[in-house]
Amino acid sequence: MSLLVLKFGGTSVGDIERIKNAAAKVAAEVKLGHKVAVVVSAMAGVTDQLINYCRSITPHHDPREQDAVVSTGEMVTAGLMAIALQQRGLNARSWHGWQVPLRTDSSHTKARIMEFNADALRQRVMDGEIAVMAGFQGVTADGSISTLGRGGSDTSAVALAIAVKAERCDIYTDVDGVYTSDPRIVAKARKMPRIAYEEMLELASLGAKVLQTRSVELAMRYRMPIQVLSTFANAIGSELPGTLVTEGNEIMEQNTVTGLAHTKDEAKITLVKVADRPGIAAAVFVPLAQANIIVDMIVQTAADEEQTTDMTFTVSRNDLERTKKILESERQKINYKNLLADSGVTKVSLVGVGMKSHAGVAATMFKTLAEKGINIQVIETSEISTSVLISEEYTELALRALHTAYGLDAQ
Ligand code: ADP
Ligand code: ASP
Ligand code: MG
Repeated sequence: MSLLVLKFGGTSVGDIERIKNAAAKVAAEVKLGHKVAVVVSAMAGVTDQLINYCRSITPHHDPREQDAVVSTGEMVTAGLMAIALQQRGLNARSWHGWQVPLRTDSSHTKARIMEFNADALRQRVMDGEIAVMAGFQGVTADGSISTLGRGGSDTSAVALAIAVKAERCDIYTDVDGVYTSDPRIVAKARKMPRIAYEEMLELASLGAKVLQTRSVELAMRYRMPIQVLSTFANAIGSELPGTLVTEGNEIMEQNTVTGLAHTKDEAKITLVKVADRPGIAAAVFVPLAQANIIVDMIVQTAADEEQTTDMTFTVSRNDLERTKKILESERQKINYKNLLADSGVTKVSLVGVGMKSHAGVAATMFKTLAEKGINIQVIETSEISTSVLISEEYTELALRALHTAYGLDAQ
């Protein structure tokens, strides 16, 4: 017997039939003798709809109240799942975030977990009751409901698995594992039986939305194994049909590139003809930092004869308008000729721990893109990844060509 946490994402609980299907999987684990805690997302599309309701009153609404609205999506599914389990003759009850309680800071819509004592929940699970916790939500010190950012139910599930000392956290979703690239874009993507935490973290943070980045961070810190698996297949988690996210091993390190990720969440800004003198980068980036705007990729061209340079960088698309406003208000101080903004860009990344010790990995990327006539706008590297910014229209072409070039295609 072991204690398992099972998380069902939006598609997995998208309608009543699917909730019943998920309940059947829970029942199958219980039948094998496991103790189970479940974490659920809102039904597919519900979170988007609730956010849109708030925005339709005003785009500048109070984030505390957005959380009050949006958190209801998961509460509905938690109750429905408990009913579906009870209908199967199982002992189950739902838990809202504040009832556990999952305590967070007060940064509404992107709250971070501060303290998570799930002892009461664990006790009831050990006594044979199935706990169904609403994902994505917590409670702040002043008793307000908070949410953990888009995709946050993954983080709720991993946090619960750690808090109740589960053996594993199974993430049921609409794909049957983690692939070498998004299988909806790259038809030849291959499912990986295992992936190291380090690589999964890099893939997630570079755009692979199959797991929220923070869930992988937590799992890695507490060495909690995660399995990503399909809600539509017959196999259940205990049969280990999915992808295990776990410690790395030597076999994994022989691959140079493990997978590709991409994101369309960024926008590019270029400041044309900025004076090339000390303090200029600070003049650009300090006001952005003060406004809590995260800058990702940065490049600066070499100075021309007039001692000016062009400075290009990326920010989240959501922050583009604010970024433009701030830079326009700082125009006198920074002294640039033009500000160009482009949100039609995609960041494509290669990830692999083997990149640490292999030369020429990035060169293959540049050559492959050149052969397809795809211009690289910005390049960024880390120890285990290389990213390029390209025009959005080439996303599919670039991903498929790189997937083939690195020998990742399924046979
Ligand atoms: P859920 O609603 O269950 O949380 P998500 O939509 O958040 O599901 O995540 C699953 C999706 O992640 C898949 O449908 C797939 O399109 C996407 N995805 C992106 N990159 C990958 C990858 N490398 N492997 C598998 N899925 C990926
Ligand atoms: N329902 C939330 C979202 O759509 C949280 C989640 O599904 O993980 O972002
Ligand atoms: Mg998700």
